[in-house]
Amino acid sequence: MADKIICRENVQRYYGDSRLTMVRYAEIEASGKCPFCDPNIENERVKDMDHWIAVKNKPPYENTLLHLLILPRRHIEDPLQMDLAEEAGFWDMIHFLRGRYPETNGCGLCLRVGEIGGITIRHLHWHLIVPEVGPDGRIPVVFGIG
Ligand SMILES: [Zn+2]
Repeated sequence: MADKIICRENVQRYYGDSRLTMVRYAEIEASGKCPFCDPNIENERVKDMDHWIAVKNKPPYENTLLHLLILPRRHIEDPLQMDLAEEAGFWDMIHFLRGRYPETNGCGLCLRVGEIGGITIRHLHWHLIVPEVGPDGRIPVVFGIG
């Protein structure tokens, strides 16, 4: 099951120099439990729907005003595995979140697919990210892929 939870190579590449993060991923792997499958989710929940759950990312990426994760209830790894109800429900969730958080009028909806795409946790998840705005304008947020 551990191979179905995280991609070790990408975790090492992204976080190899961060002992705390590596320990966290080792704990996830040792638990054998996907952290994005209900009821394992520890992130603060924002919204539960029939097919999707929105949570706060922890920790949020640097320079983000808002950083949410949008998780399918079902453990799937690729958006092409979504059924029709999940596809419709996804857009229902986006409409809900855009209404609840007016700051999402300026946001990124980001997704990694597959190991080459840079996934770490294999459970499909979209990042909804609103960048901070500083006194001199927008502050870039780094969303790595590859
Ligand atoms: Zn999962």
